[in-house]
Amino acid sequence: MCSLPVPREPLRRVAVAGGTHGNEMSGVYLVRHWLLAPAELQRPSFSAAPVLANPAAAAACRRYVDRDLNRAFTSTFLNSRPTPDDPYEVMRARELNQLLGPKASGRAFDFVLDLHNTTANMGTCLIAGSSHDVFALHLCRHLQLQYPELSCQVFLYQRSGEESYNLDSVAKNGLALELGPQPQGVLRADIFSRMRALVATVLDFIELFNQGTAFPAFELEAYRPVGVVDFPRTEAGNLAGTVHPQLQDQDFQPLQPGDPIFQMFSGEDLLYEGESMVYPVFINEAAYYEKGVAFVQTEKLTFSVPAMPALTPAPSPAS
Ligand SMILES: [Zn+2]
Repeated sequence: MCSLPVPREPLRRVAVAGGTHGNEMSGVYLVRHWLLAPAELQRPSFSAAPVLANPAAAAACRRYVDRDLNRAFTSTFLNSRPTPDDPYEVMRARELNQLLGPKASGRAFDFVLDLHNTTANMGTCLIAGSSHDVFALHLCRHLQLQYPELSCQVFLYQRSGEESYNLDSVAKNGLALELGPQPQGVLRADIFSRMRALVATVLDFIELFNQGTAFPAFELEAYRPVGVVDFPRTEAGNLAGTVHPQLQDQDFQPLQPGDPIFQMFSGEDLLYEGESMVYPVFINEAAYYEKGVAFVQTEKLTFSVPAMPALTPAPSPAS
């Protein structure tokens, strides 16, 4: 896998998507607001388009109607022949691929920002594809410097060799904001305001880049998934215990072998039996019960992100 090419021209086609999961309310309501009052998304060199990604799920206040939209942007779904029996989200993924992509094409949007909430205590989490997404990682660095009090963590979701599957992967560059903890279907003012401020800073960063700002190389700390752990379950598939109180809300904190991870209904503690320390994230995320995930194990890595050179002004038509 090689680095995504750093943009060599201004980013003009930009979208801000919310409601990719219809019960993650910060993005749903920010986008509904911006559809009525889009001036907040305008900058001198571009205007970002607000997109309600899954309108049927947002109307029903559910994560999805038929299947998870944010796993549907794979070549299998996007390129298969449409049939009347296709799940709603597969049809919607194809529509969004037409609107914002096509994925991996020169016609794709320059940048898509996708807005999410989690029920886990992940604070301000910035989700990029991989350590090769140079533009997105400079954006993460910019957000960290602008909001030191938020201690923004960077999560690289893509496992090596795995095809990207999420909404912002249809654009040339993208990032997701994952803010929590917020219950599904609930709008909290603090998280709503934080997301709104972060979106404004993302657009300001794109404007800086478009105006010819260069960004120096830096060292970045990030987390990437190495596995998942399901709840202890009965033979019937029901829960046999809860996330342990000592693990609850401890996202991005080190978990050592021997630390308790589940409290069984029988009363005993279940201990972490991994071979090495991991950093759990998405701990007790409501949407992941059905995916068989009580938490995601990550490892922390530090790597260098190369400098991003300034755009050179386009030659004037006369020259
Ligand atoms: Zn989400």
